[in-house]
Amino acid sequence: MIPSRTERLAGWGRHPVQEARVYRPEKVAELQQVVESRPEGGVISRGLGRAYGDAALNAGGAVVSHLRLNRILGFDAETGEVECEGGVVLGDLADVFLPRGWFLPVVPGTRHVTVGGAIAADVHGKNHHRDGTFGRFVDEIRLMTPARGLLVCSREAEGDVFRATLGGMGLTGAIVRARLRLMRVESSAVVVDYQPTRDLDDALARFAESDSRHRYSVAWIDALAKGRSLGRGVLMQGDHAPAGVTAPRPTRRIRPRVPFDLPGATLNRLTVGAFNRLYRATHRARTGVAEPLETFFWPLDAVRDWNRVYGRRGFVQYQLVVPPDRADVLAAVLQRAAASGRASFLAVLKRFGPAGEGILSFPMAGWTLSLDFPVASGLAEMLREMDRVVADAAGRVYLAKDAMLDAETFARMYPAADAFREIRRSLDPDGVLTSSLARRVSLA
Ligand SMILES: Cc1cc2nc3c(=O)[nH]c(=O)nc-3n(C[C@H](O)[C@H](O)[C@H](O)COP(=O)(O)OP(=O)(O)OC[C@H]3O[C@@H](n4cnc5c(N)ncnc54)[C@H](O)[C@@H]3O)c2cc1C
Repeated sequence: MIPSRTERLAGWGRHPVQEARVYRPEKVAELQQVVESRPEGGVISRGLGRAYGDAALNAGGAVVSHLRLNRILGFDAETGEVECEGGVVLGDLADVFLPRGWFLPVVPGTRHVTVGGAIAADVHGKNHHRDGTFGRFVDEIRLMTPARGLLVCSREAEGDVFRATLGGMGLTGAIVRARLRLMRVESSAVVVDYQPTRDLDDALARFAESDSRHRYSVAWIDALAKGRSLGRGVLMQGDHAPAGVTAPRPTRRIRPRVPFDLPGATLNRLTVGAFNRLYRATHRARTGVAEPLETFFWPLDAVRDWNRVYGRRGFVQYQLVVPPDRADVLAAVLQRAAASGRASFLAVLKRFGPAGEGILSFPMAGWTLSLDFPVASGLAEMLREMDRVVADAAGRVYLAKDAMLDAETFARMYPAADAFREIRRSLDPDGVLTSSLARRVSLA
């Protein structure tokens, strides 16, 4: 059996911080040993730890890192199909395949996410309204399960296990390998239109009017604006550029860095307000701006360790989705956030397309909004209030971001959880796979 080391771990939000025994297998057989050894306190898979809360934590138990199981195993240059291990990083796939004319069909807001993490959270990108989630482009998954060993699942074989694994937060098994379809692109640039939005109604109307014309569409919202300006921001819509269009290369190698934890007070209304005004000023109405793909998809990656800006206590990202006719909830949440004076660095608004296949996947048709909140007293109570409003509107919050949802509200938000538990029982009847998130919301 490979050795383990007790470490203090956190997600990207740096809250909570918990101890676990970490295993770092280099071979699939070693991963299998870890799972079959039924570690005390259970075990959960971990990729790059970019889930914000406790999805890849397992307080007092074991965590198995997939970062050394990261080989690209095959590529079909005709179809764009890639076979790779779960620890392969999306940004590395982009680096390898973009020069060959292929890109990932769905990317989250950072390149530092593993294939296993992208499947387990069934991540979405700025093109959800058109293309759905990451899982839609996955054709086969090899899953290490406690009760059934290594299982190959796809839409055709073990379809229930496949659908439970998309968005299953690592609780159906360890994703050892996957087959994915890449998308052809003609250049490494994206052509972007920027439209400032006056207020929330204006933003929603612009989404409705212009979403269908663009593959990518997302709005940045000034979360401090109140009253008549509530919801003002910038709508950014883009498409892959045709052949021959180039954009200045990003300077990734000399990224600025947040060198230490900024004191919480640094991020007060003034600094965030100044940031927001600056952002709006640099995103005046413009059309047809050619941008490097990295700048468009992963702007935050330009600042290393930006999660330290919220101070030592960390932060929570709150991402909700509500049905199309419940935009009133967005206004209520933005109002509550602005009134609380809790600075939110980033607020992002997007219109989702229809839900996909994943039993516990987060996206569903409607509006999604995400806000960052530094951890401070009273935060849990405020988020609980927001949770109730979201659940009452038949909406839900994103487990890959969440750190505070309770089991009762989770059950209201994810009515398919019982079906998920049923499938899990056949794969892991003794509950070997578990995480801090899973226990908090009673999924395991
Ligand atoms: C700056 C930033 C922007 C983001 N933007 C988006 C976005 O636009 N859209 C979006 O959907 N998400 C977004 N996210 C969230 C992120 O994409 C997900 O949390 C993703 O799951 C993180 O992948 P990871 O490799 O870091 O996995 P981890 O954070 O380590 O784990 C996340 C979950 O995946 C499971 N998991 C990881 N690897 C495996 C494996 N091999 N087998 C089984 N289970 C596994 C873990 O158990 C855990 O439940 C963003 C995160 C950050 C930090």
